Amino acid sequence: MADRDGKRCTAIVLAAGSGSRMKSKVAKQFLLLDGKPLIWYALNAVEQSKILDDCILVTGAADLEYVKRGIVAKYGFSKVDCVIPGGDERYASVWNALQWIAKGKQSVPNGDGYVFIHDGARPFLTEEILARTLEDVRKYHACVAAMPAKDTVKIADGEGFAKSTPDRRSVWTVQTPQVFETGLIIDAYARLAACLSEQETGKIAVTDDAGVVELFTDYRVKLTEGSYENIKITTPEDLLTAENFLRRECHK
Ligand code: C5P
Repeated sequence: MADRDGKRCTAIVLAAGSGSRMKSKVAKQFLLLDGKPLIWYALNAVEQSKILDDCILVTGAADLEYVKRGIVAKYGFSKVDCVIPGGDERYASVWNALQWIAKGKQSVPNGDGYVFIHDGARPFLTEEILARTLEDVRKYHACVAAMPAKDTVKIADGEGFAKSTPDRRSVWTVQTPQVFETGLIIDAYARLAACLSEQETGKIAVTDDAGVVELFTDYRVKLTEGSYENIKITTPEDLLTAENFLRRECHK
């Protein structure tokens, strides 16, 4: 058993996106990958994990009943403690789940443990990644799975021209899980929510949870080794890549 100081580890699995870049009528979390809905893979990793205790599953308000019956009950995902509605943006979905925790609505409250926020659209979450992030969150309070960028990254001006080129040695692409002490991440998001309610939405670009911690706290977020296979299914070609990964697993 991984050492977690007796602390509870809760996964927040996000599946409330519309998946518009997938160009499919079916929301991408429900598209079939090797005969199972995409979201099955992340939930299965949670279910099999020796590290994670429970899971808050966030999905679209219109999909709640389908997800409860057609996925959680059908596949017997016993660690899913609740299925709750998300918001219009990823950060709003995360904030709904964090408020659920903050209000003590879980069957077993997680007041001073760790929260593992994971995109339901990343099917290749492994126990090794979970173990590395657990180790780092215990040391550093906040960490995210990430990998060094393979491509050179350009900063663009508003007209589609290259403005500058960051040194690739300092560029990482960030994945999930993004893992935090419960109190720290609730506090950071509460500050974000306060800002947003003051109509400052346009001034803050929030695309991941680490960014919220960077903006609103003094904590440094550790970049923990993820995996180049821990891809997010975003566009149709990502599904082909995922199918190839699964095929290779079958032949091992
Ligand atoms: O859109 P993108 O692929 O970056 O979304 C990352 C994850 O966040 C996906 O698993 C998606 O379902 C989730 N999400 C969400 N609520 C939103 C937008 C995205 O739960 N409003």
